[in-house]
Amino acid sequence: MKQALNVWEMTLKRLDEVADILNLKPGVTKYLREPRRIIEVAIPVKMDSGDIDIFKGYRVQHNINRGPAKGGIRYHQDVNLDEVKALAMLMTWKCSLVNIPFGGAKGGVVVDPTKISIRELENLTRRYTYEIINFIGPEKDIPAPDVGTNAQIMAWIMDTYSIAKGYMVPGVVTGKPIELGGSQGREEATSRGVVYTLLSALKVLDINTSNLTVAIQGFGNVGSHAAKILYDLGFKIIALCDVTGAIFNKNGIDPYKLSDFIKKDSLVNYPHAEKIDPLKFFEIKCDILIPAALENQITEINAPSVKAKIIAEAANAPTTPDADPILKDNNVFIIPDILCNSGGVTVSYFEWVQGNDAYFWSKRKVNLQLRDIMENAFYEVYNFSTSKKIDMRSSALALAVGRVAEAMRLRGIYP
Ligand code: NAD
Repeated sequence: MKQALNVWEMTLKRLDEVADILNLKPGVTKYLREPRRIIEVAIPVKMDSGDIDIFKGYRVQHNINRGPAKGGIRYHQDVNLDEVKALAMLMTWKCSLVNIPFGGAKGGVVVDPTKISIRELENLTRRYTYEIINFIGPEKDIPAPDVGTNAQIMAWIMDTYSIAKGYMVPGVVTGKPIELGGSQGREEATSRGVVYTLLSALKVLDINTSNLTVAIQGFGNVGSHAAKILYDLGFKIIALCDVTGAIFNKNGIDPYKLSDFIKKDSLVNYPHAEKIDPLKFFEIKCDILIPAALENQITEINAPSVKAKIIAEAANAPTTPDADPILKDNNVFIIPDILCNSGGVTVSYFEWVQGNDAYFWSKRKVNLQLRDIMENAFYEVYNFSTSKKIDMRSSALALAVGRVAEAMRLRGIYP
């Protein structure tokens, strides 16, 4: 039986494919395959029990040719170095694709944040920050939230860093609370970006938006906001799924009511929808499928059963390389992750600019600028894909990797 690739191997495979399209010199590809810096730390935390526990943490800076490294921090029990390396590389491509002046990074701590107390979580975060403090900063590397981390955790990182510097440094992280220099619109920015790219896709595919049905895997930050924005625009959300299970209602699910419900119960117990098998989620007959949970969800096994016309990849790396040709043969239009979910890092960039300028924008300005960037990026990718007769994923990667390779060529190799 064929051995499945892990997410790092998948990300490298995709880079190699695009290096061929771009005719990159072997040395350039070699350079781009290697993260610039990998930091691995042991984080000691005094637990509430009085004993000490040690957590493993990582920060990977993949590339800084176009600007400081930028990328989220993930707290999850399955975090591992290969995953962090893959996500750091994807950040480099994402920032390049939307043409913001950042490189790519990612951090992670092997911890289930729901299983430790708030005090332990704060101490873990502050010690992790201390362990990587010489490698982060507004001009070096700017963390942000990802799975398992949030605005409060960013506030603790900012505070720890600022105490070490002796003055407040809001630009060291993004995704902060608004009260501490966070940007308006950051919380739902990724989802808003997903929707802007989706609306552009519907336009180029000449699909009328009325009565379109949507299934979303993941009802966390990205999935729930995407559901609400689409619901407000008149799309029918017929299926939703999270770690507790999957639900379906052919007449539509109100994501606002569901959000209220899951404050005290599990999504799978929502009374206004029927339970369905989460393993068959991607087979649902719908117009638009939005994976907004984890990596490796659409594979060669379930790809043949996908009935949606469009997959909008809100999650990072939700589709495996083996699934791509199957979806292509079945005429499924893919809005690839580095394009689809880049709204979050785009508004993170706005937050960094606002923090460095100490001048804050209205929500309207944030959303208008975000729409401009997402639509431009979509049309650039779409036009390149049609002119080169390549799929949307290869097109997005080729544009992104090409820009990084050019920045590298212009800067040269020191000494
Ligand atoms: P989150 O932790 O807020 O939500 C994750 C959701 O996925 C939860 O509803 C969880 O129950 C669900 N989930 C977890 N395991 C699952 C499983 N096995 N099956 C079905 N559902 C499952 O995370 P998020 O911030 O919404 O991120 C979701 C995805 O989007 C991740 O891939 C993340 O890297 C990506 N992303 C997030 C942002 C951002 O701004 N938050 C930006 C870009 C990309």
